Amino acid sequence: MINSPELNISNALIEKESKYGAHNYHPLPVVLEKGKGVFVWDVEGNQYFDFLSAYSAVNQGHCHPRIINALKLQVERLTLTSRAFYNDKLGDFEEFICNLFGFDKALIMNSGVEAVESAMKLCRKWAYQVKGIQPDQAKIVFATGNFHGRTISVISASDDETARKDFGPFVGGISQVPYNDVDAFHTLLKEDRHIAGFIIEPIQGEAGIVVPDSDYLSRIRALCKAFNVLFIVDEIQTGIARTGSMVASYDINSAEKTDQPDILILGKAISGGVIPVSAVLANDEIMLTIKPGEHGSTYGGNPLACAVAKEALQVVVDENLAYNAFTLGRIFRSGLKDIAKRTNLIREVRGKGLLNAIVINSTENSDMAWNICLKFKENGLLAKPTHGNKIRLAPPLVITEAQINECLLIIEKSLLNFA
Ligand SMILES: *Cc1c(COP(=O)(O)O)cnc(C)c1O
Repeated sequence: MINSPELNISNALIEKESKYGAHNYHPLPVVLEKGKGVFVWDVEGNQYFDFLSAYSAVNQGHCHPRIINALKLQVERLTLTSRAFYNDKLGDFEEFICNLFGFDKALIMNSGVEAVESAMKLCRKWAYQVKGIQPDQAKIVFATGNFHGRTISVISASDDETARKDFGPFVGGISQVPYNDVDAFHTLLKEDRHIAGFIIEPIQGEAGIVVPDSDYLSRIRALCKAFNVLFIVDEIQTGIARTGSMVASYDINSAEKTDQPDILILGKAISGGVIPVSAVLANDEIMLTIKPGEHGSTYGGNPLACAVAKEALQVVVDENLAYNAFTLGRIFRSGLKDIAKRTNLIREVRGKGLLNAIVINSTENSDMAWNICLKFKENGLLAKPTHGNKIRLAPPLVITEAQINECLLIIEKSLLNFA
C-alpha cells in the first residue's frame, strides 16, 4: 500500500523525467528499481506482479539468473567488434537460432522495428531479383490495425492516426487490407501483380490482443504461395513461447513445419529483456539476395547480444515456458471469464497462452481502463491500457498457478471497486 512519506522519491523522479526527457510516453505513475522473476519493486519498496512484462520482452522473468550470468561472462571478454571482423559468438548463435526455428539463415539486428525494416528490404530485393517485379514497383501488404514499430517506413504501413500525425510524407509501395479478412487479400492479389509480400502479426498485440480466426494465417499463407508472394510473420510480441508455443504461426517441432512463414521476425523476448536483440529468419533464396555492403548495423550481431540471446532462448526451451503459457493461459482466461460474470465492467476476455486482454465496458476515450490500472497498482499488480479501453494482461511466463490465482483475486478486488 502506498502511503509512506517517501512517495516523494517517486514524484521527484517522475518530475525529472518530465523535465529532461522527451514526452513520447505516458507511463503509469510508478518508478521501478528492481525486478526478479514475476515481481518488480518500486523506489518506495512496494512489490508488484508485472503483468506487462515489458510488452512481452521479459517472458523468462526479470533478471533471470542464467541470462544474467551469460551476460556477465561475455561482458568481461568482448562486447563489440562491429561486423568488419568476425566474432566467436555470432556464428554459434546463428546456427542455434536457425536450427531452433528451421531456417537456413539469420540476420541479427537490435530493435524490433529494425528487424521489420530489414524484412521489408529483403522482401523488396527478393521481389526484383527473384520474382522479377519491375524496378521500384514492388508493394508490401499490411493489415489494418497493425503495429510493427515506429520508424518512418514502418509507420507508413500503419493506420493509427496517433502514430502517423505530422510525421509525413510517408514511404510508398505499401498496401493495406483489413485484418482477418482473407477475401480482401485475395481480391488485392488478383488486382495487383506487384505484390511482393504480406507482413502480418499472428495476433495483433498493440491493437489490444486481437485474435483472428483459427484458419486465418494458414489461408493467408496458402494465398501467398499461390500468388508467389512472401508470407512474412512479425512474431516480435507473439513469439518466444508467449502464446503457448515457441511461435504462434507454426509448430517448430513438426517435421513438415506446416504454415512456416517465408520470413520470421523475432525480437523482444529473444534476449529476455536484457539487451536489445532482434532477428530476421529466412531461407537462402531470400536471405542471399542481400550482398555484402547492402545492409548492416554497427551493433547488429555483437558478441554480447549473441551470448545473451542464445542463453535466453535456451532458458525458454529448458524451462518449458511454452507449456506453462499454454496451461496457465487457459486457467487465467477461465478465471477472468468468471470475474466477467460478476461485474459488468468487462465486455470481453480474449487472448492465447499468456497474451491476454480484457476489454473494458467503456468508450475508447474514457479513462476507465486507466483508472482500473491505477487500482491494480494500488493492489500490487502492474498493467497498462492499450488503445483506450483494453487492458493487456501478460505476466512473465515463469509465473506459477498459485500466483495466477492470487492475481485473479487482485483483479477481481480491484474491479469491484468500480461496480
Ligand atoms: C514491439 C513490437 C515491434 C517493435 O519492436 P521495438 O523493439 O519496439 O522496435 C514490432 N512488432 C511488434 C508486433 C511488436 O510488438
